[in-house]
Amino acid sequence: MSGKVAIVGGGAAGMAAALSALQAGAEVTLFEKGSALGGILNQCIHNGFGLSYFKEELTGPEFAERLADKVRDSAIDVRLDTAILSIGKDLSIAYESPKGSGTLRADAIVYTAGSLERSAGAIALPGDRPSGILTAGQAQLYLNHYGYLPGKKIFILGSGDIGLIMARRLTLEGAKVLGVAELCPYPNGLNRNIVQCLEDYDIPLYLSHTVTRAYGKGRLTAIELSEVGPDRNPIPGTGRRIECDTLVLSIGLLPLLSLLRPLGLRKNLAGQIEVDDSLMSSLPGLFMAGNALHVHDLVDNVALEAETAGREAARMALGERASGGKELLSKAGDGIGYLIPGRIRESGEEEVLFRFRVRVPNKDCFLVFSQGDKILKKIKKMSIIPSEMEFVKIPKKLLDFSQKTTIEVKLCH
Ligand SMILES: Cc1cc2nc3c(=O)[nH]c(=O)nc-3n(C[C@H](O)[C@H](O)[C@H](O)COP(=O)(O)OP(=O)(O)OC[C@H]3O[C@@H](n4cnc5c(N)ncnc54)[C@H](O)[C@@H]3O)c2cc1C
Repeated sequence: MSGKVAIVGGGAAGMAAALSALQAGAEVTLFEKGSALGGILNQCIHNGFGLSYFKEELTGPEFAERLADKVRDSAIDVRLDTAILSIGKDLSIAYESPKGSGTLRADAIVYTAGSLERSAGAIALPGDRPSGILTAGQAQLYLNHYGYLPGKKIFILGSGDIGLIMARRLTLEGAKVLGVAELCPYPNGLNRNIVQCLEDYDIPLYLSHTVTRAYGKGRLTAIELSEVGPDRNPIPGTGRRIECDTLVLSIGLLPLLSLLRPLGLRKNLAGQIEVDDSLMSSLPGLFMAGNALHVHDLVDNVALEAETAGREAARMALGERASGGKELLSKAGDGIGYLIPGRIRESGEEEVLFRFRVRVPNKDCFLVFSQGDKILKKIKKMSIIPSEMEFVKIPKKLLDFSQKTTIEVKLCH
């Protein structure tokens, strides 16, 4: 083993993974298809980043620069403007840049290629296809990066954090945000964003509503807003027309996994790449972190997760990975949307950190971790919501690796 670790993607996750792999003794190459490090953070010019990781409130670009400065000052081989085209089962990476193409054979890879936004096609939005319908990330890029206001009378579909942040940002830049519609009967963004981005600006939030039609030839002229029933289907006869020139879609992010598809990696029921507690996928040597593994609300958690992946990738590359022992499977039970990790190794760290989200908001409930009939941990929750990721550590000594029973987390009342 020559200790070569390759990092795919130079956002917060890629930079944190690269720094931690270097610190653990690996020879690190970081590939970023863009011309700068930082990823999505570079267009998030609002504050609210870094409170736990840097113990300071920073903007997205400031957070990115802190990590990028460390990367630039280190021995990490940074390849900007270099897109990864494919990853082989032998951990070879094919890349292309303006200087030419090539292949690098790594001893371990950390895949941190981020996520992509769901677009109008994902919700089969009926009606015309005029200009003026764009995703929240695109609107953010136009406004914050290129200085273009994407519209004047704007409606937002989806109450995820990006949509909420864009409602405030567009208002501050002089657009009229007519409202935000959310399919669910509860908001999907963080509470602080509901208050600071909608309520402070008197922007109405239409819960249990969706956009059922787009109108306009050339440019969007109106949308139809309808109520939805408990089955989330539009209720006939509730549609009303709202005149607007722009519809911003904030209907979710999905891990960007296209490069991994040919590898046939195991996935969990939520469609995420299944990893063990060292964040290694079912292909030995391929580690995952950041939004490519699961979509995060806070970059601080992205960076911490990526540090683990980087360190573990270095151990693998240097032949220092703890091996032997058994593995247990874990699964998301009642009320839990997904659970990471999907496998827990008897070897390695003494504690396992579970990351998960609940499916729907709940009050006065318990999170229960169990193995068969044995309760491992029970945590009282006054309130729990899907938009906030949960983290729970469990010492491995509580787990019985001689049994084949699965570790389960579920929500109980
Ligand atoms: C609008 C918005 C607002 C947010 N607000 C907050 C907030 O207030 N506070 C907070 O803490 N967090 C916030 N977040 C969350 C946080 O910023 C993200 O979760 C985090 O930055 C994601 O980092 P990442 O490295 O996983 O992904 P990304 O930043 O997406 O980085 C992935 C990188 O991989 C590169 N890449 C992809 N494919 C390839 C390839 N084939 N070859 C080479 N490179 C490739 C991309 O170019 C990109 O640079 C926000 C996120 C968004 C989108």
